[in-house]
Amino acid sequence: MEQRVYLDHAATTPLDERVLAAMLPHLEGRRGNPSSLHASGAAAREAIEEARESVAALIGASAGEVFFTSGGTEADNLALLGLAGAVEDSGKRHIVVSQIEHAAVRETARHLESSGWEVFWLAVDADGLVDLDELAVALRPDTAFAAVMWANNEVGTVQPMQELAETCAERGVPLHADAVQAAGRAPIDVERISVATLALSGHKLYGPQGAGALYVRGGVSLDSVVFGGGQEKGLRSGTENVAGIVGLGAAARRAREKLDERVRRETGLRDRIIAGATALPGVSLNGHPERRLSNSVHLTVEGVEAESLVLFLDALGYEVGSGSACASAGHKASPVLLAMGQGEHEAFSAVRISVGKDNTVQEIDSFLEAFSTATTQLRELSPLTKI
Ligand code: PLP
Repeated sequence: MEQRVYLDHAATTPLDERVLAAMLPHLEGRRGNPSSLHASGAAAREAIEEARESVAALIGASAGEVFFTSGGTEADNLALLGLAGAVEDSGKRHIVVSQIEHAAVRETARHLESSGWEVFWLAVDADGLVDLDELAVALRPDTAFAAVMWANNEVGTVQPMQELAETCAERGVPLHADAVQAAGRAPIDVERISVATLALSGHKLYGPQGAGALYVRGGVSLDSVVFGGGQEKGLRSGTENVAGIVGLGAAARRAREKLDERVRRETGLRDRIIAGATALPGVSLNGHPERRLSNSVHLTVEGVEAESLVLFLDALGYEVGSGSACASAGHKASPVLLAMGQGEHEAFSAVRISVGKDNTVQEIDSFLEAFSTATTQLRELSPLTKI
C-alpha cells in the first residue's frame, strides 16, 4: 500500500497497539456483565475500576469523580443538561457559554435555549481567547453554569483555565470544561484548576472511539440524562462498554507517562510546519501564537478553497482536516473563525494540520513540499484572488 502521512490527530488518533492489547481480552471470549454477581462479572467490574483510577490520575481527580460515557459528546451533553437539570427548580435559567465551543456543547446550549433558558454567548478575541472581564460581567446570581473549552478543536487556542475557574468560583458558578482536545496533550490538574465538570474522549489520546468520561467534582450535583439500570452511580445507566473503558484507561495511563515527551516532540513538529507554511505567500496562522495545543496548526490559505486543498493533499498521500471535521461535514463556515472576527470567505480557506506522537521530521518536510505544490497549483486553477 502507498505510504500515507496522517496529520489529522485532532479529528482522531490511531489506536495505540498497547491499548489494543489491553482491550483484546475484553473482546475475545468476553463473558461478564459488570453488574453480575459471579466471578466473570467481578472481573469486568475490576477492569472498569482500574481504568477509572487511570483516567482520574491523568487529570488529578479521585476515581469516584470519574464517570464513563460513550465519548466526548455524551460527556458534554451530560455536563450541561445535568448541571441545568440539577438547579432548574431553584429558578436558575441562565447560562454562559463561549462562542467557540465544539458542537457537542454549542448544540446542547442551543437546545437549552430553545427550551427557555437564557444563554449569554461569550465572545473571543481574534486569537480565540475569551475575555475574563466579560465573563465576570456575564455571570449573574441566577447563572446555573458556565462552559468554556480547555482548548479549541479547530484553531488550537488554549484558554486561561485557572483564571476562568477562579472567576467562576468567586461567583459560586460551576464551570464546565470540554477538555477533549486538551486531555493527553496538555497537563490537567483539577485539584489546582477548580472546574466543576470536565469532558474527555478516548479517541483523541490513542484510545478507542466511543469511550469517554466526565469528571464531576465531589459535591457538584448533576441530574442524570440516561435512565435505566443505574450504572455509574445512577448518573449514566446502560451496560458498560468494558473493552472501550479498559482502552480509555490504558490510553490515559500511557498519556500520563508520556505527556512531557509527546508535548516536546509534537511542539517541534508543529513549529516546523508553522515556520515552513507561513513562509509561503498568502498563508497565515490562526489561533493564539503561543497559547496553543502542542499538536495543532490552523492555516488560512488565501485564494484556495480548503476542501480542494484537503483533497489535493489526500491525492498526494497527506491527510489533513479542513476547518474542523464536524463543521466541514456541514459545509458551513466555521462558527469558531466567524467568532474570531474572520469573514465567511476566509473561513472557507482554512485547513487544520494536527501532528501526532508518531510523525517524523521527514514526514513534515515532505508534507511542506506537497503543501507548497498544492497551494501553487490550486491557485493557478482557481478563479479566486491570485496571490
Ligand atoms: N469536544 C471537542 C473539543 C472535540 O474535539 C470533540 C471531537 O472532535 C468532541 C467534543 C466530541 O467527542 P467525541 O468524538 O468523543 O464524541
